[in-house]
Amino acid sequence: MNSYLEKVLTEVKQRNQCQPEFHQSVEEVLESLEPVFERDSIYKEAGILERIVEPERQIIFRVPWVDDNGKTQVNRGFRVEFNSALGPYKGGLRLHPSVYIGIIKFLGFEQIFKNALTGRSIGGGKGGSDFDPKGKSDMEVMRFCQSFMTELYRHIGDKTDVPAGDIGVGAREIGYLFGQYKRITNSFAAGVLTGKGLNWGGSLVRTEATGYGLVYIVEEMLKDNGNSFEGKDVVISGSGNVAIYATEKAQEMGAKVIALSDSNGYIYDPAGINLETVKCIKEVGRKRIKEYVTEHSSAEYHEGSKGIWTIKCDIALPSATQNEIDEDSAKTLVKNGVIAVGEGANMPSTPEAIEVYQKNNVLFVPAKAANAGGVATSALEMTQNGMWDSWSFEKVEAKLKNIMVDIYNTSSEVAKDYGLEGNLVAGANIAGFLKVANAMLDQGI
Ligand code: GLU
Repeated sequence: MNSYLEKVLTEVKQRNQCQPEFHQSVEEVLESLEPVFERDSIYKEAGILERIVEPERQIIFRVPWVDDNGKTQVNRGFRVEFNSALGPYKGGLRLHPSVYIGIIKFLGFEQIFKNALTGRSIGGGKGGSDFDPKGKSDMEVMRFCQSFMTELYRHIGDKTDVPAGDIGVGAREIGYLFGQYKRITNSFAAGVLTGKGLNWGGSLVRTEATGYGLVYIVEEMLKDNGNSFEGKDVVISGSGNVAIYATEKAQEMGAKVIALSDSNGYIYDPAGINLETVKCIKEVGRKRIKEYVTEHSSAEYHEGSKGIWTIKCDIALPSATQNEIDEDSAKTLVKNGVIAVGEGANMPSTPEAIEVYQKNNVLFVPAKAANAGGVATSALEMTQNGMWDSWSFEKVEAKLKNIMVDIYNTSSEVAKDYGLEGNLVAGANIAGFLKVANAMLDQGI
């Protein structure tokens, strides 16, 4: 990294102390941008970097709610409105006990460039709370969501900021949040949230979009390298929305998915995962993944989620959470002959793990490109809401596929243009940055 980029990074670290995930995501982007700043001085002159690393607005608020025993609970809510150069802030809400401002800022920062890559008019933002939905009743989740929205509603809007789901926020939570927004504002503003129910403004394919998009872009990368999903053994971490629909699409493309996980442990089924069972456990029952082995004698359950990376596979799709693959796990994957890695989660590989893939010529598509299908389909949902229309499954899926192929082509062409052929980390970061930076230049300081 040159001295100017180093200086910006040092300032980010000083100004945002004790936020290692945010530092990590900024460092990864800045490292990729060195050739851009060498080629063109205009971004430095306009202070684009200094501005892009500072959120436009950060909101932190109290979320009080009453549990089923009548006891008052207090959580902390966040919304970081990071960058609106390309459109209204857009990004999910994460409900997980690990959530604090540093996690929301890393996710919001990633979202700026990911959203730019989709080619849609959406800026970057993220929010959430340290509320833990695990073990909570429906009514507790409802009361939490209502309280959360009672503060959030004044900051969002279809032209301002459009939240959606992320870890811990699915159709149920979006429903409770939307109900409260409607109640408070006395308006049915469908475009204020995405991931809505299909009969009240949601889009077909939104549920499947991140997982399907991940498999489309990895397939494109494989095809470009004379390969495909057909006949491959695939390991996918996680068992939420992303993992479930990545499994579905990979199976459709002729791959065998042999493992899935949750935060407690992983299942390994050499016969191939039975997705109906997983959907019943996770989507209907909201239970733990270990239940799977009670129905499939071919499968094993192991405690500890990290062990999933010791399974021999051709393709790995980390779709659980940040930093889930470290250097050791990456080395094990390489030793076991992995040919491609695609990131379904946000920043699931540590910088050291990425170095291991790159040194060993593993095909690698980073999160900003690989999991952009979710937010891209949210943008399609916003378009349908704006038109008071709803499109068929086939129409939305075809658009999603085109967007993923475009992201792959743009990222690989930009990498080539900067003399970094095959480096999709650099390609995605540079392509996303240029779109946002040029809009910021146009719009003045
Ligand atoms: N949380 C998802 C992401 O990380 C989706 C965001 C959205 O649809 O706005 O991109």
